[in-house]
Amino acid sequence: MKTKNYVLLLLLTLSVFSFNACSQPNNKKFKINDSIMKKELNAEEKRVILNKGTEAPFIGEYTDNFEEGVYTCKQCGSELYTSSSKFHSGCGWPSFDQEIPGRVKKVLDADGRRTEIVCAKCDGHLGHVFYGEGFTQKDTRHCVNSISMVFIKKEDVKKAETKTEVAIFAGGCFWGVEYYFQNAPGVLKTQVGYIGGHKANPTYKEVCAHTTGHVEAMEVTFDPTKTNYETLAKLFFEIHDPTQLNGQGGDIGEQYLSEIFYTTETQKEIAEKLIQILEKKGYKVATKLREATKFWSAENYHQQYYEKTGGTPYCHSRTIRF
Ligand SMILES: [Zn+2]
Repeated sequence: MKTKNYVLLLLLTLSVFSFNACSQPNNKKFKINDSIMKKELNAEEKRVILNKGTEAPFIGEYTDNFEEGVYTCKQCGSELYTSSSKFHSGCGWPSFDQEIPGRVKKVLDADGRRTEIVCAKCDGHLGHVFYGEGFTQKDTRHCVNSISMVFIKKEDVKKAETKTEVAIFAGGCFWGVEYYFQNAPGVLKTQVGYIGGHKANPTYKEVCAHTTGHVEAMEVTFDPTKTNYETLAKLFFEIHDPTQLNGQGGDIGEQYLSEIFYTTETQKEIAEKLIQILEKKGYKVATKLREATKFWSAENYHQQYYEKTGGTPYCHSRTIRF
């Protein structure tokens, strides 16, 4: 009997809350901006985020979450609220007294009475905002559906902020190429290996026998906030001779050809631009551009070769060309 009463009470609470707080008739279809990267939504997420529905109170994932971090839009990833603006309201939905400036748009609700809040970037429905309830000093309550958001813990926010980019250059013996890149500003990691051939897991012996079609190359991982692809590609053109057709220095053969393996269209455009600049300066550039395929890491003894052995490259040196 008691369980039955409880269920009845819960149902009553649900209906009252869903009418007075975040709910709205599902008659207004969401207009999407197709230029924004969006996550694919499941049926319940679509009901709330696209069709402006409301999740039931007290069941959302973040109602009682008070960990430090940031709440992002489930659909587009835009940061909406920080945990410092979250407070306990008892209403059954996550409550915030302030949005991250510019990230939340307020519009008159279809009911002509309440103020709806949507993600400013993708227009995804978040909930409603209420004023004058006296919960916090800001006297504002953003009543947000948990399902409209993804919470990212403080420590994970930091990790996500360090985005990296990868570039791949081939310009003769990979020991010498790596020597000039491993300490360049903004470079996080370098490794030497093989690319462009037709065999999985090629060995140095196979590549030297010219049976696999690979070239010796170096993969550089960099921090795009500290350097950029253009700077690194210019360095590449200056530490080897991009006009040599058949190899590099005394290293002759397909494994030593000058090639750029671009990982994005932007990298390709930058590389093309730099080649044009060099050609205008009179260089007959032999460097080929190819879309990057799988990069196979070389054997350990080839990695950071000169750092380990204390030597200097035998056929690479820096010549200013830009
Ligand atoms: Zn969004």
